[in-house]
Amino acid sequence: MKTSRILALGTGCAALAVAACQKVPYTGRRQLNLIPSGIMNSVGQSSYAATLSEAHVQKRGEDNETLQRVGGRISKVASEPKFAWEFSLLDEDEINAWCLPGGYIAFYTGILPVLANESGMAFVMGHEVAHATAHHGSERLSQQLTLLGGLVGLELYLANQTELTPEQRGILLASIGLGAEVGVMLPFSRSHEAEADIIGMMYMAEAGYPPEESKELWDRMEALSPSTVPAFLSTHPSNDRRKANLQEWMPEARKKYERNKLGGDPLATLWAGGGASGGSSKEDQGRGRSRAEQP
Ligand SMILES: [Zn+2]
Repeated sequence: MKTSRILALGTGCAALAVAACQKVPYTGRRQLNLIPSGIMNSVGQSSYAATLSEAHVQKRGEDNETLQRVGGRISKVASEPKFAWEFSLLDEDEINAWCLPGGYIAFYTGILPVLANESGMAFVMGHEVAHATAHHGSERLSQQLTLLGGLVGLELYLANQTELTPEQRGILLASIGLGAEVGVMLPFSRSHEAEADIIGMMYMAEAGYPPEESKELWDRMEALSPSTVPAFLSTHPSNDRRKANLQEWMPEARKKYERNKLGGDPLATLWAGGGASGGSSKEDQGRGRSRAEQP
């Protein structure tokens, strides 16, 4: 039965592929996504709810208010009406932030000192939002689909949570960004990280934050003491490479910023101490928990 379903999926792929070819915001890269966004969004929603139910969520206070304000501004320019957009501040020392398909975003309190100010938060928010709007999780899951028994297998899983083996479930969660929770290593590719940097900077500029702060943020990450350096710095595009990418797109981002810049001082220090020590940094490669995508 399963085999015939997979074969049926195989024959339908050409038509599906045509329908599923999408363009990534800003970079214009064409990508193949085989997973309907409704499916991805519902996986994102249920995984988010499960993760938050086990976390300590800060629901009040200035830090959370800042997160809601920045998230609101960035998601507005990202313009994805089908996304739910939720922003949660989790009380954990990890230097981390992530976003699940459908716009479900979490920041850990441990990353605040590295963000330092509202603009630093806006860049990381833009980066996380970009992973979602560029459908990186869906693109990655498309590549893993055969391991899940095809799209039909995935749909059966969603209709009846017992259809997948624990290993298949791990692949599914790792693909959308919750790999660490189940011990499956599947970090976003270097090209996805670089793309999220570029789109994230454009979002922050469009939302009125000075785009130069994106490079400053990477400088602060670089200045972290060795014991707290997030693993993604060694496995992801190097900081120099990331900054060069951002510089290339800076003139365009600058124009957006000049048109939209916010009043007040978006560079005023809100969280001190970034780049010196910070909290314990974990990553999505088997060590961290409930890690979706590194900033
Ligand atoms: Zn990322």
